[in-house]
Amino acid sequence: LITISDIKRDFQLGNETINVLKGIDLQIDKGEYVALMGPSGSGKSTLMNILGCLDTPTSGSYILNGKDVSQMVDDELAEIRNKEIGFVFQTFNLLPRTTALDNVALPMIYAGYSKTERNARAKEVLTQVGLQDRMDHQPNQLSGGQRQRVAVARALVNHPSIILADEPTGNLDSKTSVEIMKLFGEIHANGNTVILVTHEEDIAAHAHRIIRLRDGLIESDSKK
Ligand code: ATP
Ligand code: MG
Repeated sequence: LITISDIKRDFQLGNETINVLKGIDLQIDKGEYVALMGPSGSGKSTLMNILGCLDTPTSGSYILNGKDVSQMVDDELAEIRNKEIGFVFQTFNLLPRTTALDNVALPMIYAGYSKTERNARAKEVLTQVGLQDRMDHQPNQLSGGQRQRVAVARALVNHPSIILADEPTGNLDSKTSVEIMKLFGEIHANGNTVILVTHEEDIAAHAHRIIRLRDGLIESDSKK
């Protein structure tokens, strides 16, 4: 599903070049459940953004479902992203003053589905995440855990190959975090590939493989 070879990502800050990812090799198969860990600043989000086709590497290759996406330009990348990737963020990133249903249906507009198809599918995924009675609520009328469920439903709506989540429980209390992790467990059990970033060992313990980054390199990679 994912083959990454010698990926580097540099950022330019003024006239200084910072090497954030320094040569990452990684293979992830369909159906894996991976936790990405490592100290703050080690490059986890930078790697996730590349995996999620939100960014491209400075050098190295990224083959996603047989396609080299590492040199793609914005339009091509956006198309791949909409088709193959479901991204969940720490801060939910929902549209305000927009119902849960419309937030979830939004990626289907870009994918070209009719309104009837969009609403039917959005209701289906909102039910899957346990929000069948919250479809008409706006984000500010929902709890943090419910907002994250909406974000997870939105990530699932286009049947992506991969679900990526960057610290999905980072803004949630521990009880709500457990509920969200149960949801990711169900999503994985349904056959999805899940990759998530976390700082917490007990969150990472839900995954079947733990990859640790340190200073832009993979320090360890262990499967259960
Ligand atoms: P955290 O656990 O705090 O979220 P992280 O492992 O996700 O950390 P990254 O966000 O990937 O870390 O950042 C890694 C390094 O790259 C940091 O030093 C950061 O300042 C730098 N960096 C990230 N994005 C940019 C950018 N767009 N421009 C310049 N530097 C950047
Ligand atoms: Mg980060």
